Amino acid sequence: MGMEQHLNPNQRRALEGERFHVVVIGGGINGVAIARECARAGRRTLLLEQHDFAAGTTSRSTRIIHGGLRYLEHGGIGQVRESLRERRSLLARYSHLVNPMQFLLALDGKSRRSALAVRTGLWLYRRMGGASLGVDRRTEHDKLERLLDAGRHFSIFSFEDAQCEFPERLVAEWLVEAVAAGAEARNHTQVKQVEIRNGRATGVRVRDLISGKEWRIEATWIINATGPWADGLCQSSDMRHAAPMVGGVRGSHIVLPRFAGAPDAAVYTEAVDGRPIFVIPWNEQLLVGTTEVPDRDDPGKAMPSSDEIDYLLRSLQQLFPRVKVGRNDIHYTFAGVRPLPFAPNKTPGAVSRKHYLHDHAVEGAAQMISVIGGKLTTAGSLARECAAKLGIQSSSATVALASEDSVDSLLERWITEISGTGSLSPGAARAIAEWHGKDSLAVARIARSVAEMRYRLCPHTEHVVAEAAYALLAEHAVTLGDILLRRVPVALGSCWSEDCSREAAARIAAVSGWDHQRTRVEVEAFEIERAGFLRKPG
Ligand SMILES: Cc1cc2nc3c(=O)[nH]c(=O)nc-3n(C[C@H](O)[C@H](O)[C@H](O)COP(=O)(O)OP(=O)(O)OC[C@H]3O[C@@H](n4cnc5c(N)ncnc54)[C@H](O)[C@@H]3O)c2cc1C
Repeated sequence: MGMEQHLNPNQRRALEGERFHVVVIGGGINGVAIARECARAGRRTLLLEQHDFAAGTTSRSTRIIHGGLRYLEHGGIGQVRESLRERRSLLARYSHLVNPMQFLLALDGKSRRSALAVRTGLWLYRRMGGASLGVDRRTEHDKLERLLDAGRHFSIFSFEDAQCEFPERLVAEWLVEAVAAGAEARNHTQVKQVEIRNGRATGVRVRDLISGKEWRIEATWIINATGPWADGLCQSSDMRHAAPMVGGVRGSHIVLPRFAGAPDAAVYTEAVDGRPIFVIPWNEQLLVGTTEVPDRDDPGKAMPSSDEIDYLLRSLQQLFPRVKVGRNDIHYTFAGVRPLPFAPNKTPGAVSRKHYLHDHAVEGAAQMISVIGGKLTTAGSLARECAAKLGIQSSSATVALASEDSVDSLLERWITEISGTGSLSPGAARAIAEWHGKDSLAVARIARSVAEMRYRLCPHTEHVVAEAAYALLAEHAVTLGDILLRRVPVALGSCWSEDCSREAAARIAAVSGWDHQRTRVEVEAFEIERAGFLRKPG
């Protein structure tokens, strides 16, 4: 299969002196979407990511694909309409990764939101969202009512939104689509500086963090899609700015086991201080978040403070007083920094969640654009908007949703085909279908090649070694962390331990040619990365 060749970082082609029409810096959901849009329009495109695709804010979000009910409170009708259109498109095109979900808005008598205002807002939200996404409403409503504090008088309102449990996988698919359209993509490659000459951004100086090599690359257009790192990149490029573009706001989550009787719906409620928070079934666990804390430190090192963890726990306990949960029950916590537009005079909750594109021509760096803000949900429309700035007109085709029945029966047939092609159990075939969608047969063909490819990555998961091999061959995974945290994100599961890391690494090594030394180094680096991202509360 030539796998060893793909694993050897020194084989990565030198980029010195190459010229691209578009260089996109930052491989989060926005950067990948922009690279895909430009490549599809036939522009020579290079995507550069200092760590791994989706390793930044994108994998540290609450993972909801939503129209933004909350934005209606601030009059953001246009933003809600755009988000709902994108939600619909994601549900239709990536139905294996983006699923409709029932949300229950639970407000007690002390809420500052009146029932009438909420009903009106929800009516408008449903009208704007169009046809129902088809979630079952009543059972979950009753289940939640039984769990809530009987001493407080709650009103419960039901509405529909969607969840993308693994935006890491969505990014991996978009990356494959971008590369198939002709884009070149490099992770573990950091842009040290944007070069500016005669009032124009002309290229970038980059360092391949694996080989240590440095290159100069020329570009007609440079897109700074580095999310919360956007100002840092400008500073290291000596660009003059009157004010920062980003006002970073940290959001933290805690991940707990699902307790008996927990609703299958997401609960949207008010925290102990009246701020909105979510309690969401996620990855067979419960995800509770988030917070809003101004954060100007390195976004790669964002982590929840002890106060934020207490705040989220207290809010959960206040909502479900009969459920006994404490710090020791937390599987792990994680945090990300929202790259919100800099707005020093506003509270974090009041800052607009609408993205904007900053043209650096005003600071003497024409042909460079910074992407500020945005959401997972609207990455597609943001990419089209950004491409339009470069003179690229892309289509935003509207999509019709297939009926539930046809999707279900298609899925069953698809699973049978994957299972047959890869000599895989139905469980493994389903796991592959859920994470790899249309690329599942390519994974199944790898699984068929040798028995070792059909082994589970660890005993607790249905996911198999062939998915890791596919990540290395086709999805630009380089390190064990790229594989187990983002392409085949089994390490986000509830029972993942260091033993699982060692076992998975040994199984991947057996098919990929990693020697003993490389495997040991990979496991060590992976455990450091996992502990830095998925933190156990102290
Ligand atoms: C707590 C929280 C909860 C959220 N919840 C939701 C939600 O439920 N739904 C929703 O739609 N949105 C949500 N969002 C928003 C959403 O996650 C972000 O808007 C989105 O992920 C931003 O993507 P991005 O590509 O702009 O940034 P990022 O994902 O941060 O990507 C930027 C990338 O640039 C790279 N980079 C930085 N500097 C360099 C350099 N010099 N060279 C090369 N690469 C570099 C970084 O490594 C990083 O990978 C949430 C955000 C947070 C923080």
